[in-house]
Amino acid sequence: MQLHVGIDDTDSPEGGCTTYVAALLVERLAKMRCRFLDYPNLLRLNPNAPWKTRGNGSICIRMEAPQGAEADIKKAVIEIVESHAEFQCDNTNPGVVFHLGEIPKELETFHNEVVQTIVHLEDAERLISRYCSSAVAWKNRRGLIGALASIGGTLRGDHTYELLTYRTAPNRGMKRLIDEDSVKRMDSLIPETFNNIDPETNKVLIAPRGPDPVLYGVRGETPESVLAASRLIEVGEPIERWVIFRTNQGTDAHLSRQYRVSELIPRHPSIVTGIFEGRHRIIEGGHVIFTVGDDSGRIDCAAYEPSGSFRDIVTKLTEGDVVKVAGGVRETDVGLTLNLERLEILSLAHKFRLVSPRCPICDGPTESMGRGQGLRCKKCGNKGPGLIKKLVEVPRDLRPGLYLPPPRAERHLTKPLERLGREKQGVPATLLVPWHSD
Ligand SMILES: [Zn+2]
Repeated sequence: MQLHVGIDDTDSPEGGCTTYVAALLVERLAKMRCRFLDYPNLLRLNPNAPWKTRGNGSICIRMEAPQGAEADIKKAVIEIVESHAEFQCDNTNPGVVFHLGEIPKELETFHNEVVQTIVHLEDAERLISRYCSSAVAWKNRRGLIGALASIGGTLRGDHTYELLTYRTAPNRGMKRLIDEDSVKRMDSLIPETFNNIDPETNKVLIAPRGPDPVLYGVRGETPESVLAASRLIEVGEPIERWVIFRTNQGTDAHLSRQYRVSELIPRHPSIVTGIFEGRHRIIEGGHVIFTVGDDSGRIDCAAYEPSGSFRDIVTKLTEGDVVKVAGGVRETDVGLTLNLERLEILSLAHKFRLVSPRCPICDGPTESMGRGQGLRCKKCGNKGPGLIKKLVEVPRDLRPGLYLPPPRAERHLTKPLERLGREKQGVPATLLVPWHSD
């Protein structure tokens, strides 16, 4: 009996983590003689969803379960969710969905919709009653959307891996004791891992902040690489348990829909190709705003202060540059703004500047005699008719290409530059031994 269990929205900003629920569940299911068909899938959903708690991550566990075990498995899932979800948080609305057999195409489509747009609870409930064996929802039931989406997120296209380690209860909320030098060493030894260190600040990025149970997560291209990496990372506190997840993190799964400016929809991750108009503006807080237009309209784009040197690229753009901007669309009092997550410069405009010529008689510098009055040599006084300002092309300190914020400001879903060309397809035929703690 092929069984897929989707879980979403058990965490809150104050703690908990849906991946931790998955880690507990994997151990319980292993004891119930379930055979796992894949690593647990960790699916990040639309990062602009208004009701997300933290990383907007959902989980699907796919298994071959013993005949007749469904009721016991369901009981175990509900028990673990009920004892670990952060029910006291208004924004935490857990949902669990159970699906038997192959994944229908409609659920894969639903998954893409949930990653790339905003969907309604009724759509999820309609699909659940049509395709799934059962579902359990708590509070406002919204967790069903992510739980169903995770079942449809089969990750047959590009994917990555993350090995997550968890802290013991007494250490949660305390400073994480991770040896930073060991992380830097690991980063240089295992190139199949990514986003370990921020190159601009040299900061270690593998540990979250805050009270959640995650000690660190190491991201990479293969299960072997993240397991090898974790063996090189030295920590000063006990690791309670660990699991390798297969995930859509680092794949740009959210950013794949092209829109014309007039067709943009708030909260949809969107790509717009257009022309840079006017000049950039720097607003309070150090955020850089600029305007991109196409034949249907124009939109403000924002590169926020935490994106660091990414803003410097934006400030070098000039009128007429052709760009492809990508990010989440936000509704403001004055219209829509695209929060820039990715900038591709397709072509650069020629940039000119008016320059006063040298004097043809004495080679001295020339100056303007006033508005509409022509030029005069500062040295010999020559003001012949040949003295006119010339347009000179200014070299551009910028190249066409793809630009991203530094890793410290990237979203979970953002594909890092170092992953370009490493995209892969397919579902693993076998699982690494071990891929989780007992
Ligand atoms: Zn002169």
